[in-house]
Amino acid sequence: MFKFPRIRGGVHPDGHKDRSAALTIVPALLPPRLYLPLRQHAGAEAIPVVRVGDHVLKGQLIAEAGSDVSAPVHASSSGMVSAIGPIGTPHPSGLSANAITIDCDGEDRWADLEIPEDPYALAPEVLAERVAQAGVVGMGGAIFPAAVKLKQGVKHEIKTVLVNGSECEPYLTTDDRLMRERAEDIVDGALLIRHILRAYSVVVAIEDNKPEAIAAMRAACEGHGSIEVEVVPALYPMGSAKQLIQAITGREVPAGGRSTQVGVLVHNVGTVYAIQQALRFGRPLISRVVTVAGGCVNKPRNIEVLIGTPVRTVLEIGGGLNGQPARLLLGGPMMGQALPSLDVPVIKGTTGILALSAAELPRDEASACIRCARCVDACPMGLMPLEMAAHARADDFDGADDYGLKDCILCGSCAYVCPSHIPLVQYFQYAMGEQDTRRRAARKSDRVMAMMAARAERLRLEEEARSAAKQQRRGKSAGRESAGAPS
Ligand code: SF4
Ligand code: SF4
Repeated sequence: MFKFPRIRGGVHPDGHKDRSAALTIVPALLPPRLYLPLRQHAGAEAIPVVRVGDHVLKGQLIAEAGSDVSAPVHASSSGMVSAIGPIGTPHPSGLSANAITIDCDGEDRWADLEIPEDPYALAPEVLAERVAQAGVVGMGGAIFPAAVKLKQGVKHEIKTVLVNGSECEPYLTTDDRLMRERAEDIVDGALLIRHILRAYSVVVAIEDNKPEAIAAMRAACEGHGSIEVEVVPALYPMGSAKQLIQAITGREVPAGGRSTQVGVLVHNVGTVYAIQQALRFGRPLISRVVTVAGGCVNKPRNIEVLIGTPVRTVLEIGGGLNGQPARLLLGGPMMGQALPSLDVPVIKGTTGILALSAAELPRDEASACIRCARCVDACPMGLMPLEMAAHARADDFDGADDYGLKDCILCGSCAYVCPSHIPLVQYFQYAMGEQDTRRRAARKSDRVMAMMAARAERLRLEEEARSAAKQQRRGKSAGRESAGAPS
């Protein structure tokens, strides 16, 4: 029985989860070379603290956080830094073209990690800082630095820590397997987060299509009074934080607002696990579980991948491909990004690698909008996708904003139900990208104007100082002349 079964909109795409969910997680293999992008997170690019030629150890800091909203990067294995700079193919996430390349030495030798004290004996701020130093980011794909979220949460009154185990995207089963295999650690991590935030309770939300994960998490929660598992209906995009909060608490996060405004802080299952590893063992985030699936993958499964491993290597661990994929994606089919090359590395936010066959793809040819309003019904944010798309197509971005573009979470539910196969999300991505470019150009122009104004002011002051000095000199020489003149 669901507490709050109704959320707005949503769709029921085919899950395609059975094959990869059935197999245990395969441990990481060591590739010959790792490519570690300097920005695998929301916020500023990390700044390298190593040089080409340096030998680094597994877990060693190789790039420090570039600002308050950023995350450090650590070596995923031991070896030599062979390059720092742009990698051949831009990452499809659009996050960073710059990376640190490590030629692995095959020894996989760990750096000396600081053995943490009992985390419950430490202040919340100290614990949040340890999470920051471990480079943990939102691993459900959100990639927001986890410590920034924790630090924000410490300042608010958080009643509920919501552990997001819903994993609603088709094909993806990383969280499912993680909950089945590492339930105790996830519960430990969730209770540590509760301690940091001084929250009252922890709720682990899992979709009803993961009975094994539900059972494993319920068993791990036993004996801990303040944590419980809630089952939510399988409905896409239940994994979106706002939808999940509404389903679990009945509270709606205001448009443009944050979950902390309604007393809830949401972390994905994988993030909670990474936080636990950082606080209990001092381990930085250097690997993650990735689902490898799709009709063209020989052995769909979950693999624990070292961050920076090229997709090509991960696919090989998944038994290789059985044909030419019609589409290669990083992430799920609803929100994932097209892969331009198999040399692209896995980053902290990579949930899955999909190699889809033509039979798994929707029909592509778009036709005219028939104004059926199915997209409106499917939108979980209560927006008007058809109007937003029409305005975006006409480059009228303010008009698109009027219909809610800023609140669009790019979930793709509208495009999924559109009988005319209109690529609605592509229009939204285009409009958001253009708006971002214009905002950046405006900020740059403001900075240039400010610099020009400052220069003009400096020149004026210099000119004033010059004329004052000139006048002073004139006054002195006039004084000397009058003193020397005959009376
Ligand atoms: S679902 Fe597609 S065809 Fe129907 S109104 Fe929306 S955009 Fe138009
Ligand atoms: S992509 Fe945006 S407009 Fe479409 S359903 Fe999702 S939130 Fe609504």
